[in-house]
Amino acid sequence: MELNGVQREFIKRKLEILSKSQFRSKFKLNEKDYNYLKEKGLQKIEEHAKDFIQQRLAPKNIKNDGKQTPMRGHPVFVAQHATATCCRGCLYKWYHIPKNRELLPKEKNFVLALIMEWLNKNYKLK
Ligand SMILES: [Zn+2]
Repeated sequence: MELNGVQREFIKRKLEILSKSQFRSKFKLNEKDYNYLKEKGLQKIEEHAKDFIQQRLAPKNIKNDGKQTPMRGHPVFVAQHATATCCRGCLYKWYHIPKNRELLPKEKNFVLALIMEWLNKNYKLK
């Protein structure tokens, strides 16, 4: 997806703040995640991320909010914990996105961009 300069700068700053969080910075891609990324390619992974956002984060009511994103098992899950986009509680706390309503298209795009930037960065670091 395409980001403009302002969005890119905002996401960069957010990722810097996240990297200073002791809890968030603990999440790292393991060998399995890395191999999965390599095998599927970032474009395919972006589709997975879109699906996860749509199904697990976007709805107005999420029964298991706070527990819908496993700690491991998919590189996007890891990226979600690392970027505080794992649940609506964290989206509210970190980005002031209100709970109890559906996510707006621009909010879904923002979450997707954060996840993909984090994945891109961490994929290259390996
Ligand atoms: Zn969370």
